[in-house]
Amino acid sequence: MSETIFTKIINREIPADILYEDDKCLAFKDVNPQAPIHFLVIPKKAIPTINDIEEEDREIVGHLMLIAAKIADELGIAEEGYRTVMNCNQFGGQSVYHIHLHVLGGRLMGWPPFTDKPKSLE
Ligand code: AMP
Repeated sequence: MSETIFTKIINREIPADILYEDDKCLAFKDVNPQAPIHFLVIPKKAIPTINDIEEEDREIVGHLMLIAAKIADELGIAEEGYRTVMNCNQFGGQSVYHIHLHVLGGRLMGWPPFTDKPKSLE
């Protein structure tokens, strides 16, 4: 499996604006924010997509959600609310193949998501 940019961030080979780290996960600001607050929570284990999550990853994946909520609280967006998203593969809009939980806040979110065709399918 080829290494993604997120493994490089975990290994401090490229910089990121890191918000939180422990033995299982890392959280950092998204470099191309889609909301006033937009950060990613990633496992240190390089799991490519949601489809690759195994039974043994149950605790790690749950941990991502707990850390997302903890950081959202620290950033002051817990009460007003926020959006969490984990994209999977092409139709889900995934571009980095190391699972990551997006946390977006600081503005009202729309629903449903856009149905525009991704550029790769045009
Ligand atoms: P996705 O399209 O769901 O795979 O999301 C990948 C996200 O990673 C996008 O929102 C990118 O802006 C973000 N991203 C890519 N490279 C970096 C980086 N070096 N530092 C922080 N965020 C990044």
